[in-house]
Amino acid sequence: MKKVELKCNSLNERGQGIGQYGKETFAIPNFLPKEVGIFSVDEEQKYQKFKLIKLLKTSPARTDVKCDVFTSCGGCQLLHMKYVEQIAFKKEFVEERFKNAKLPPKIDTVIQADKQTEYRNKMQVAYKYREGKIVYGFYEEESHRIIHLNNCLVQSERQNEIVRYIQQIMQQLKLQPYNEDKRTGLIRFILVREAHITKEVMVVVVTNGDQFPGRSEFVKRLRDKFPYITTIIQNINTRKTSIILGEEERTLFGKGYIEDYLCDIKFKISAKAFFQINPEQTEKLYQKVEEYAALTGTEVVVDAYSGVGTIGMVLAKKAKQVIGVESNKQAVSNASANAYENKIKNIKFYCNDATEFLKQMAKDQVAIDVLVMDPPRSGSTTEFLNAINQLKPQKVIYVSCDPTTLVRDLKVLEGDYRIENKTIVDMFVGTYHVETVVLLEIK
Ligand code: SAH
Repeated sequence: MKKVELKCNSLNERGQGIGQYGKETFAIPNFLPKEVGIFSVDEEQKYQKFKLIKLLKTSPARTDVKCDVFTSCGGCQLLHMKYVEQIAFKKEFVEERFKNAKLPPKIDTVIQADKQTEYRNKMQVAYKYREGKIVYGFYEEESHRIIHLNNCLVQSERQNEIVRYIQQIMQQLKLQPYNEDKRTGLIRFILVREAHITKEVMVVVVTNGDQFPGRSEFVKRLRDKFPYITTIIQNINTRKTSIILGEEERTLFGKGYIEDYLCDIKFKISAKAFFQINPEQTEKLYQKVEEYAALTGTEVVVDAYSGVGTIGMVLAKKAKQVIGVESNKQAVSNASANAYENKIKNIKFYCNDATEFLKQMAKDQVAIDVLVMDPPRSGSTTEFLNAINQLKPQKVIYVSCDPTTLVRDLKVLEGDYRIENKTIVDMFVGTYHVETVVLLEIK
């Protein structure tokens, strides 16, 4: 195999090292600016064409990686960077996105994370046969190969021990893992959700079909070993898809949901509802939203893409009225129950597409003062943003988990709104993902 010496010039948005290989621009994970290394080249491979043999020059930004699957897993991309460097990378990356879009680039605040490991409250792994043995783990990036893991550092000890023990139960009870090609076997994924304050734990077993032979024994063994598990759910997913959860589910044990607190408000969380994965940082994020909203008690607030109602309920204390809109049925049902149980009366949640809902509000000329939006990575729609331009709330607070779609969307609001303030919250430590909150005021 051919060997080459390569030099890294900069980083791309995924934290991969960029440089030149002849006329070709390469992007290599785990390679930092100014570093030089000897790589083997496999022209056949599109992804991971270059394999590091030896670094000749290392960057002072580099740190030792404690994870043993770092180079193959791909789930965390920045573990080889010192934490300060990770933060600098994220800040620069967001600023660059703004600059390229001709929007004011300055980031006012960066909220770092105190916890750099075990920060996730949710773990999801796939199970598979490999050479006669059951393995479990995350899918390797851009492939369907499972990277077996014994201990994922961003997940808690409890989450790790549950998924590890399930591998044993499957072996003991002869429960087959799913085979993607043949579409046979029983267990596709296990999802574990853990509440950081109440410590409740949910285990979701995603099965390829309705039948779950040995399920009472499965539940018994799991509960005997981990009495702290408060609910076990079977989710049925027979589709040929990489989406983890199917539509149908049945509760095998417990309440069918867990409860947790964020900003002293209690939230019910079902298996299919979205819930932020880093609770400590989420509280800081919501506090920032609260600060940006600066409510006085007279305002009508819209919480768009509201999930289980978290942001809306945090703001409801100081608002006159809050209107939430969310398309996931389970999340809306959780949100309404959450408002009821926390005795928050000035909030109402609607199950609808956020764009349709906002267009209708614009048509009805509803008077709103503050609009908070927290769309998925794909961002919002031009129609949604145009409806904001018609509704003209005094403030728009955009919570974004993807700076690229964020700046694209901000361009639609640029005519009527001025960017007042920006914060980055480091929710996804060790990964290239960035959470940004932007405060916009009407011109
Ligand atoms: N604000 C919440 C949820 C943010 S995640 C929180 O902080 O927890 C984004 C949410 O948008 C998810 O709950 C998802 O179900 C919802 N969503 C995605 N597309 C949507 C659409 N077109 N209309 C309404 N909600 C949508």
